[in-house]
Amino acid sequence: MIFIRQKRGIIALLVALSMSSLWLFRSYLFPQNMPKAGIALSFDDRYIKEWHLLRPIFRKYNAHVTFYLTQPDSLSSEEWNMLSELSKDGHEIACHGAIHTQSIPFVWRNSIREYFEVEIFPALNTMKKHGFTPTTFAHPGGSQFWWLDQKLYQYFNLLRDVSLKKRRLGNWVFERKIDEINEIYFKPNQSKSVSALMIDISNELSEKEIVEVLKKAKNTQSVAMLFGHKPLFQTPQTGQEYGFEVEFLTYILSESAKLGLKTYTMAELSQFNKP
Ligand SMILES: [Zn+2]
Repeated sequence: MIFIRQKRGIIALLVALSMSSLWLFRSYLFPQNMPKAGIALSFDDRYIKEWHLLRPIFRKYNAHVTFYLTQPDSLSSEEWNMLSELSKDGHEIACHGAIHTQSIPFVWRNSIREYFEVEIFPALNTMKKHGFTPTTFAHPGGSQFWWLDQKLYQYFNLLRDVSLKKRRLGNWVFERKIDEINEIYFKPNQSKSVSALMIDISNELSEKEIVEVLKKAKNTQSVAMLFGHKPLFQTPQTGQEYGFEVEFLTYILSESAKLGLKTYTMAELSQFNKP
């Protein structure tokens, strides 16, 4: 009799455990789709004059994007005016730190408190002074760790990391196939820490590969997150130039339009996550 009761107790416990783990991992087990598949483009650092020149292209494709601004205290009033115009166009002006330091070595040498005092608070304060209240953040240098992210969530709704096809470590080059890069597709309620695929020329993405990414976003009803740095208006000569070809960006936008993909800002994506 006692044995049967014990057995029932164990079964009840197992059922309770599996129900609670189903609940915990519900968003992974039963992922929700986006109402409309799309792309979320973001641009890092402070190439404000060059970003401002992209306005006609964004207007042509009715695209809204995110600019992750770093070292805002170094900007001229002309650049702040350009950012205001970009914001009025419906683009997001978001935070990429005050000094653009890599968080892991910085916190290792100092502390999380100092990281906030040096990297986060001054950036937020300067931006606020110029009328911007950023709600999303991109990790400078793609350097992030779990514990710091938990603290950053007190100030930001979404944290963006870097995803590469090609990564160099000294003489070693690690390359992933485009269909193996799965972390760049946003779906609701999966994580507030997301990764975007870099479109700079150093990542050597082909037109065929980017179309594969866009089609995957369409087929999985998700949002492909992509990002770059400096817009290169001329065809690169050496391959060592820093940034992405404007021609490549235009290609991405025109192929997206053909597939009926919607553009999202990162702040818009963050609204698909439960608080
Ligand atoms: Zn950066």
